[in-house]
Amino acid sequence: MIVKPESLPGDVRREADVVIIGSGAGGGPVAKELAESGHSVVVIEEGEHFSRQDFDFRAGDALTRLYRDAGQTVTLGLPVIVVPQGKTVGGTTTVNSGTCLRIPRHVLKRWHLEHGLKDISEDELNLLYAALEEYLFVKRADPEVAGVNNLLFLEHAGRLGYGGGFLPRNAKDCEGFGVCAYGCPSGAKQSVNVSFIPDAVAAGADVYTGCRAERILVRGGRAVGVCGRFTDPRTGKRTRRLEVRASVVVLAGGAVQTPSLLMHNRICLSSGQVGKNLSIHPCGATLALMPEVVGNPKGIPQSTYVDEFAPEGIMLEGVTVPPAVMAITLPWGGRRHAETMRDYPFIASYGSMISEHDSAGKVVAGPSARQPLTFYWLGREDLDRLKRSILLMAEIWFAAGARRVYTPIDGFKELSGIRDLKRLSRARLKRASIYGLSAYHPMGTCRMGSDPHTSVVKSTCETWEVENLFICDASVLPTSLGVNPQLTIMAMAARAAGFIDEKLESASLREETAGRLERMRARLRSEKESVARRLSGGPGSG
Ligand SMILES: Cc1cc2nc3c(=O)[nH]c(=O)nc-3n(C[C@H](O)[C@H](O)[C@H](O)COP(=O)(O)OP(=O)(O)OC[C@H]3O[C@@H](n4cnc5c(N)ncnc54)[C@H](O)[C@@H]3O)c2cc1C
Ligand code: SF4
Repeated sequence: MIVKPESLPGDVRREADVVIIGSGAGGGPVAKELAESGHSVVVIEEGEHFSRQDFDFRAGDALTRLYRDAGQTVTLGLPVIVVPQGKTVGGTTTVNSGTCLRIPRHVLKRWHLEHGLKDISEDELNLLYAALEEYLFVKRADPEVAGVNNLLFLEHAGRLGYGGGFLPRNAKDCEGFGVCAYGCPSGAKQSVNVSFIPDAVAAGADVYTGCRAERILVRGGRAVGVCGRFTDPRTGKRTRRLEVRASVVVLAGGAVQTPSLLMHNRICLSSGQVGKNLSIHPCGATLALMPEVVGNPKGIPQSTYVDEFAPEGIMLEGVTVPPAVMAITLPWGGRRHAETMRDYPFIASYGSMISEHDSAGKVVAGPSARQPLTFYWLGREDLDRLKRSILLMAEIWFAAGARRVYTPIDGFKELSGIRDLKRLSRARLKRASIYGLSAYHPMGTCRMGSDPHTSVVKSTCETWEVENLFICDASVLPTSLGVNPQLTIMAMAARAAGFIDEKLESASLREETAGRLERMRARLRSEKESVARRLSGGPGSG
């Protein structure tokens, strides 16, 4: 059942086998797997639940209802980077672009060699990926609805000899409405709110929405439950309490909220790694003024990619924005702003994503668990690669006939042709001269590893320090992936669900055996007493 705070008569006290904090890419698969295995499951989700009829194509409304901080969560450091995160049933998957990619082989190798995770084999992951891809209807974006913007870029990248293709996506009969980031109005995108969560609920799971988990209950080194508070969605005031006692607690609040929860509960901190090792895949973007109407934002926003430069850690992926979002991202104001907005029908866009080499990030405890602080410093090498990705995108746009290309780099906001590209390629950028950056993949803040001194969770996702406390979200990924992470988060969560299931099974077996032993002891005790009574000639001895 999906429970809304307004339907509750009072505080809630529950018992369950498993309580899961967060209903996104990590929490959803764990809830489904364990509920379908017959365990009682409670999910606590801070955001609200919406159905597809609630998604109305409007960016402003969606940002405030579906995102944390209205999508404006930023990192502190240089440069400032916007890192939007979903806060709704389905987590960030409800607002993501639907791209589903597997972990690159060289990244898994790094996990094996540098993090001692050899027991996560490629074969096992491939089985999990295949099952997830079938369940989520993953297939390559259909060129019919891929959008002119994405097709133009791919075609001209190809003409320059740069390899790429159509992205695999979890959208069934996608109609190319172009609003994936504001909730899919057709229900095509198989985000967790329309896939794992409904299936978990059908198998008996309860999802408490509008409730923030605040305290993790630990007794004798074991997690035994969670306490949380509901919030009135209209006033934002804290209302009823929720307490769930459970045999297993799963944290799946995402790579920013999960470490914050651990820090505020002062648990799992001995390795010193909670909140550290944050990677985000910093993203660059280009806008291009084209001679023809491009038709944005119609078509799948992210349908094509160019992976020619993936070995350098640069991935180019499609992105389109509606006018309201372009208006807040343009690098100028006044008349210039108005003129560029008038050109909207002719403006194309594309994005880049960097797999970090020398950047550094961390999440630290803020004034409340709800408001952690995120710090991020873009490294020199990563800054140079970001610049290179912008140059590459500009080169492709000019090859496609762009009249001008707009970039987020001070001194190079508008490029008019190859001469400007050469000027930019010679420039040594400062961190402060690149602005308007965003990133969509926070990861790594409770990293997985084989050494309890340098990692927070084991390869099973159970924390080293607190028994029966598991972390199943982006925070366990030990390195930057270089590709969009949702499918890997889901695979790791489904894998962890198997270990949790085994744990619960063996615990109930232990309970059953202990019960049988206790009954046997009681029978022996009563037989002994009756023999003693017979021998002493007491009542009933005849
Ligand atoms: C606009 C956008 C587009 C993206 N596109 C793609 C894409 O195409 N492909 C891809 O692979 N990835 C994409 N991503 C990233 C991907 O969606 C995330 O990496 C993934 O969803 C993270 O999974 P998670 O389980 O760690 O966290 P989330 O999916 O964010 O789920 C965490 C949930 O936990 C809840 N929560 C947190 N703390 C608490 C608490 N204390 N109590 C109760 N609930 C809590 C949150 O409200 C949230 O709903 C995109 C991200 C964005 C922002
Ligand atoms: S493009 Fe439109 S129909 Fe397709 S998944 Fe995105 S929002 Fe849904």
